[in-house]
Amino acid sequence: MNNVYDEILKRDMTIIAGPCAVENEQMIFSISEKIKEGGGHVLRGGAFKMRTSVHDFQGLGKAGLMMLRAAADACELPIISEITDVRDLKLFCDTVDIIQIGTRNMYNYPLLKAVGETNRPVLIKRGMGATIEEYLKAVEYIEQGGNKKIILCERGVRGFDTATRNILDIGAISLLKQWGNYPVFADPSHAAGRADIVPALCYAAVAAGADGLCIEVHENSQEALSDGAQAVSVAMLKKIVNKSKKIKKV
Ligand code: PEP
Ligand code: MN
Repeated sequence: MNNVYDEILKRDMTIIAGPCAVENEQMIFSISEKIKEGGGHVLRGGAFKMRTSVHDFQGLGKAGLMMLRAAADACELPIISEITDVRDLKLFCDTVDIIQIGTRNMYNYPLLKAVGETNRPVLIKRGMGATIEEYLKAVEYIEQGGNKKIILCERGVRGFDTATRNILDIGAISLLKQWGNYPVFADPSHAAGRADIVPALCYAAVAAGADGLCIEVHENSQEALSDGAQAVSVAMLKKIVNKSKKIKKV
């Protein structure tokens, strides 16, 4: 569990991939193997979902987290999952390799302080309306507790256009790289909100210097319980991984 962050620092590019949410045992076991085969390094899957509507699928909670862990163990992958509540911190420290702080919690300073006092790697997404300065100040809340295993992640900011869910801020990737303290990832799935342009955004992010990508993948996206429209297929994941590696080399 402990060397996942060092591996990210060593690797040219790290691929985090998996479904938006863990939906059931069968789906997460099935997709985890394919993610590994397809070039994924870390398996993602939400168990505690921060849905805009309370009427939408909220995730399977602790049971979902355990399914993610078991599926990843079966194919020897590390896992990342989003924490939404500071009261779940022990569960996350005991279960996940990387703790994800979602865009909606970038300003949740008590949560940031709490993960900062652990030694678990933390991927913190940029708030959807946060300036880069606000984002970096949020990162300091984690650092202050002593945790320096931090991964930054640009996931798109709000714009006026409804054709895409958000706007992937390519300039931010480049600026955060210049800042230089931590690996910079991009999440083109949540930026795009639609699968067709996810590959192009992945390539743009890598060209801008991203050290890793977070990509939502689903084997049957039409039936997905969350974020189906933005999920790419396993076949598409493979293409993205191959082409991104080539771009990274250039
Ligand atoms: C997610 O990763 O599924 C997620 C909810 O992301 P974000 O916080 O970027 O919306
Ligand atoms: Mn999602």
